[in-house]
Amino acid sequence: MSKKFYIETLGCAMNVRDSEHMIAELTQKEGYEPTENLEEADLILINTCSVREKPVHKLFSEIGLFNKRKKEGAKIGVCGCTASHLGEEIIKRAPFVDFVLGARNVSKITKVLHTPKAVEVDIDYDESQYAFGEFRSSPFKAYVNISIGCDKQCTFCIVPHTRGEEVSIPADLIIQEARKAAQSGAKEIFLLGQNVNNYGRRFGSDHPKINFTELLRRVSEIEEVERIRFTSPHPLHMDDEFLEEFARNPKICKSMHMPLQSGSSRILKAMKRGYTKEWFLDRALKLREMIPDVSISTDIIVAFPGESDEDFEDTMDVIEKVRFEQIFSFKYSPRPLTPAKDYENQVPDAIASERLTRLQARHNEMLDEMKAERQGKIYQVYFEELRPGGMVAGRTDNNWLVQVKGSEELLGRTLDVKITEAGRLYGYGEVIA
Ligand code: SF4
Repeated sequence: MSKKFYIETLGCAMNVRDSEHMIAELTQKEGYEPTENLEEADLILINTCSVREKPVHKLFSEIGLFNKRKKEGAKIGVCGCTASHLGEEIIKRAPFVDFVLGARNVSKITKVLHTPKAVEVDIDYDESQYAFGEFRSSPFKAYVNISIGCDKQCTFCIVPHTRGEEVSIPADLIIQEARKAAQSGAKEIFLLGQNVNNYGRRFGSDHPKINFTELLRRVSEIEEVERIRFTSPHPLHMDDEFLEEFARNPKICKSMHMPLQSGSSRILKAMKRGYTKEWFLDRALKLREMIPDVSISTDIIVAFPGESDEDFEDTMDVIEKVRFEQIFSFKYSPRPLTPAKDYENQVPDAIASERLTRLQARHNEMLDEMKAERQGKIYQVYFEELRPGGMVAGRTDNNWLVQVKGSEELLGRTLDVKITEAGRLYGYGEVIA
């Protein structure tokens, strides 16, 4: 009987891709099979996130539960960003954990598996040229990593401490991976990196000069690729060449994530974001001008230390001007190892909650207006997922989630859909062609 593993993945798309890489290594090199049933697993993995997911004490209570439920002799491994920043402290606090594997050490999964109490959390480790086996959770959409780590030092963010300095993956490896995925049916290629449009700044070995715009062009030349998405771009690196390629290239989906964080230039400086309110507005409004149907999503942190009423009004002003289709908004919360956690001027929680509520309420009003505009419209939808109740879900080019009645035969196809019921973040429709 083959051995089984259970894996829980928290956090962002990069973690999803890291889990896919671990799954490929375990199944192809170690003879494991996946299971959804924790009690029958021989190996239990939790791929953690330190950005927004569970606070550390919740992680320990969760692995404590895993330990109670696991079958005798089963191993537990803690992986990902929290593994990187806590390292051996995890085994000290939870001695039943068998190994700790940091976010930049994914290729060592087969090594830690056989090394009792292994802790592999080196954030300088370079696995940018490691050839992982093939595994994808969706046959219709392929995540492809283009870089590892991040060179920015945003004062609220722990990622540079968990994923290390930025290293780009060689362009030929990216093209080869994207081509292989597209030829096996994944018509949508999703390029991943902490800061994608900084691509090409540093490679692990000699590499011809290439930037993200050129990489996008090369991916779009793969015949079988129909759609290209990417996350996350940084507003600072949104130069004209990049925006023009984004607008001009028909294979690049017209949905841009522009993480604003704050609309106040003063707070952006304290966050070390490297751009101003004016720069952000200029880029976002240029995008709207070039592509009337573009959708722009963003991340906003309210009540960063020192944020005054006036600073918050600047954020509200950007929201009014850009009219984001989606906002991921959070109250500032201090993260370990970050400079901002020690800033003295922390904003009281009651004020933070008030600001967040006001921002979300105003954004919901805007979404209601957008929703009315979508009713009855026709969109091209690429179907990629079966949903309960005989529904199939897909996304429009500008990343709006649409569901229709249907079955497997719609999967992997791009069809015209008329919207019959528009919601704030998703809609229902019927296929018309
Ligand atoms: S750009 Fe800033 S927020 Fe994004 S991962 Fe890097 S340090 Fe964190």
